[in-house]
Amino acid sequence: MKIVLATGNKGKIREFREMCEDEIVGFGELLGEFEIVEDGDTFAQNALIKARTIYEKLGEDYLVISDDSGISLPVLDDAPGIYSARYAGENATDEDNLNKLIESVRAKKLKSTKAYYTAAIAIVSRYGECVVHGWMHGDVIDESRGDAGFGYDPIFVPEGYKETLGELDNETKATISHRGKALKLAKPIITMLLNK
Ligand code: IMP
Repeated sequence: MKIVLATGNKGKIREFREMCEDEIVGFGELLGEFEIVEDGDTFAQNALIKARTIYEKLGEDYLVISDDSGISLPVLDDAPGIYSARYAGENATDEDNLNKLIESVRAKKLKSTKAYYTAAIAIVSRYGECVVHGWMHGDVIDESRGDAGFGYDPIFVPEGYKETLGELDNETKATISHRGKALKLAKPIITMLLNK
């Protein structure tokens, strides 16, 4: 079985490739890019929607993994959460979304506030489906610092650090991140399925 990642997000594809020994192909390379409607109410539901959509198109020779993730701020009632990719509107860029989140924090007259990232990784194959989660806690600040990572990383300071994820290197992010933690759970499942 070949492993396919059900995302077109370049930041996610890069992180998965850096964190996995197995060869991973983005679905766009096999099927061309197209939009998958994510209309679930949770990260887990949206991760399953993405992985099932690609598995149904590719068939049983493939093991499809997907990542649905986002950032939540308790001070904003956990927004943007599952809407992180479109916080500033349907066609918003990462920069638009980050600027809107800075504006929302400033509107609360805060310079920093608690936040957490969630990642749900779904695995869909001929043997069935499962979803695992990982979280990373920290603070969102009201200014952008550094250009490593992607998305909201330049305004997120992980617990125990002074730097933003935009200022930390990729290896450090991989060991503490929501995606890194979820992938640690997913890896033994993927290995077991590949060797079945
Ligand atoms: P999804 O592709 O629908 O799961 O959207 C995820 C969105 O959440 C991305 O577009 C980013 O804005 C944000 N996000 C998820 N994980 C990360 C991360 O590791 N760093 C920064 N932003 C992230």
